[in-house]
Amino acid sequence: MPFELPPLPYPYDALEPHVDEQTMRVHHDKHHQAYVDNANKALDGTDWADRSVEDVLRNIDQIPDDKRTAVRNNAGGHANHELFWLIMGPGGGRGGEPQGELASAIDDAFGDLGSFRDTMNQNGVTRFGSGWTWLVWNGSGLEAYSTANQDSPLMQGHVPLLGIDVWEHAYYLKYQNRRPDYLAAWWNVVNWDEVARRYEQARG
Ligand code: MN
Repeated sequence: MPFELPPLPYPYDALEPHVDEQTMRVHHDKHHQAYVDNANKALDGTDWADRSVEDVLRNIDQIPDDKRTAVRNNAGGHANHELFWLIMGPGGGRGGEPQGELASAIDDAFGDLGSFRDTMNQNGVTRFGSGWTWLVWNGSGLEAYSTANQDSPLMQGHVPLLGIDVWEHAYYLKYQNRRPDYLAAWWNVVNWDEVARRYEQARG
């Protein structure tokens, strides 16, 4: 079955004032839709057309040569944005801090929540051009790094838990060139419940 654009799980203006309504409309309805359409076009007629987007990305090396770049960019874009809408939410970050085992794991890996956010933001600010700044489960622990373009942590066998889109299309209308301001504000909309759910699932 071809990939489909999932509906945004909250209104377009739900993340105001940190992420503006117009950005959310264009980002979800146009950019994400284009990744879905182009991924489907690239996979059409291949053995991979009926596989999950996670399966496709985990096995990116097995995608036929003439399709691989298009799949990497667009299936990557689809998976990354599918996660992105869910790890954001209205309500000022639902308390602002992670709870339970995720909180302990972040403290263990990064020192404390503030240091973790600094690391994530720094990785996002220093990503030249377009990409993502990630918190991942690497199979044995938490790790933070950035990727270029729409490259997914799934391509290196990691499980993405939290990713912040640092493409200009994610922030330019409101923040213009001020990527650090966007990243600082972004933490007001993080949905820690969903990040914690992913963490539990990744650890198995
Ligand atoms: Mn994006």
